Amino acid sequence: MLRPLLPRCGALKPLSSQSSRLLWRGARWYSLKPEASTATLRDIDPTKLTITKTTKPGPLLKKEDLVFGKTFTDHMVSIEWDQTHGWHDPRIVPYQNLSLDPASCVLHYAFECFEGMKAYKDKQGRIRLFRPDKNMARLNKSAARIALPTFTDRNLIDILAEFARLEARFIPDARGYSLYLRPTMIGTQKTLGVSKPGSALLYVIASPVGPYYPTGFRAVSLEATDYAVRAWPGGVGDKKLGANYAPCVVPAVEAMSRGFQQNLWLFGPEQYVTEVGTMNFFVALRDRETGQRELVTAPLDGTILEGVTRDSVLALARERLVPQGWRVSERKYTMAELDEAAREGRLLEAFGSGTAAIVSPVRAISWRGKLINCGLKENEESGEVATKMKDWIEARQYGDEEHEWSYLC
Ligand SMILES: *Cc1c(COP(=O)(O)O)cnc(C)c1O
Repeated sequence: MLRPLLPRCGALKPLSSQSSRLLWRGARWYSLKPEASTATLRDIDPTKLTITKTTKPGPLLKKEDLVFGKTFTDHMVSIEWDQTHGWHDPRIVPYQNLSLDPASCVLHYAFECFEGMKAYKDKQGRIRLFRPDKNMARLNKSAARIALPTFTDRNLIDILAEFARLEARFIPDARGYSLYLRPTMIGTQKTLGVSKPGSALLYVIASPVGPYYPTGFRAVSLEATDYAVRAWPGGVGDKKLGANYAPCVVPAVEAMSRGFQQNLWLFGPEQYVTEVGTMNFFVALRDRETGQRELVTAPLDGTILEGVTRDSVLALARERLVPQGWRVSERKYTMAELDEAAREGRLLEAFGSGTAAIVSPVRAISWRGKLINCGLKENEESGEVATKMKDWIEARQYGDEEHEWSYLC
């Protein structure tokens, strides 16, 4: 396929060195190189999937003993890539250690990106994924940003569906339980040169998980971090790259040492509110003049991870809260704005959103030496919006409400 060169790249001067890769057609220069090379590379092909079952199936833990990300299922998906062939045939194999050369580029320069998504068991025992197209699109965006290979979204969804069905026995038959899937892509090329990896591995492991709040919501308290920044314009904070997460641990540990459960990430001298820990962040405000209620979250300006849960909360708010008079805003807002709203009794609630917890209600935020109360009464653990969102999203995840977001495996 021919791809027109961008007009501003169309200057003829630099073309002589690469003229063999360019084609003049229809009064335009076309570059043959990228398309010609990738067209011969193989995409992920789910019809070539082979399954090698384990001879030693692992024990099932009692569902009460499941800890997030601690135990894994019997198998894993493994798909290799190299720059001459493209994607090799996908395989499901027994869960096992990786064998990597110590010079593998992932170990030195963090060529790694990942996804976090879940498979759910519905009332009829069927396995469902939740909006897997969103996770695949995000994984491809993350991979492309760090020069790792991409693939057709749909093809990996087919393999994930097969994998989730194979591991179905690990998903307890109870509300709140699911199978956390961790698609991971790493650069495996043996080189200390900083360059585009010539080989990569995409693998998927799965961990059975229980409800985030086994005994009902528990509101958390946050410490606003002003001495470290998670993401910045033009950076990669909007991609799920492993390199974004290790630097977040020290500020989280610091906040915990002072009795808070998470830290709240701010940006810039204006102290814009961005995200909480590894979740997106929402606040509900009441307008001082009109009294109108507004659900607010930061806009996707490159400093915010494009959460699937965030998108789901926004869609449900537009569908079900706007008809009740709410306004829904993706806009910048500052700590000073929250502080003022709290003092005037207009900060109604605050919560984080992410795949692990769906929503995580927030009781208070420590900022510049004061504690901002986020609107919960002392005996409340969740606000009205967070409670509704959890119910509404779970109904679609578990297939209680038939909806296009739920993908039947
Ligand atoms: C994964 C992640 C989220 C939440 O994304 P979901 O798709 O909703 O799970 C939010 N913020 C950060 C920094 C994340 O890594």
